[in-house]
Amino acid sequence: MLGRTPTEFEWQAIQMRTSSVDREFVYAITTTKIFCKPSCPSCKPDVEHVRIYKNSDLAMESGYYPCKRCKPGGLKLSNQDWTNQMNAYMDQYYQEHITLRVLADEFHSSPYHLQRVYKSVKGYTPTEYLQKVRIQRAVELLKHTYLSVEEIGHQVGLHNTSYFITLFKNLVGTTPKQYKKTLES
Ligand SMILES: [Zn+2]
Repeated sequence: MLGRTPTEFEWQAIQMRTSSVDREFVYAITTTKIFCKPSCPSCKPDVEHVRIYKNSDLAMESGYYPCKRCKPGGLKLSNQDWTNQMNAYMDQYYQEHITLRVLADEFHSSPYHLQRVYKSVKGYTPTEYLQKVRIQRAVELLKHTYLSVEEIGHQVGLHNTSYFITLFKNLVGTTPKQYKKTLES
């Protein structure tokens, strides 16, 4: 079931963190797959990413996960599911500007807490995961496109070219240029 876009009243209640409507609906966020009570103290998303559900069960059935912070319907999200959602988010949005702070805002936590939980579950940090995703994507672009190294860096969200080259070398073992050459030979 697809949630609907919020009415003016609902959107206002979400922005004002109105607890008196907590029993009337929950709001789901399409980018992070999390859903919240209207009164959730977390940063509020853009309205175009918000879907309204009558209750927590319907949001769950639609593939959303309860927010760790406001625990809608008294539901608790496991750390495993929570960190998997972060990876899915980074898989999709690696081209955007993503920092620990951005992740913490999106996933309704603090940077410190998020990093600690993530590392304990995954064994590596969110930054390491994001770097891996970006470099894997860069490898694909080197293989299948004629884009320059600089352009590929931009495509994968690494806008500082020398940093992109350094990171690529750390993870792949050669520079992007050398890598391209080995493909041609
Ligand atoms: Zn919440």
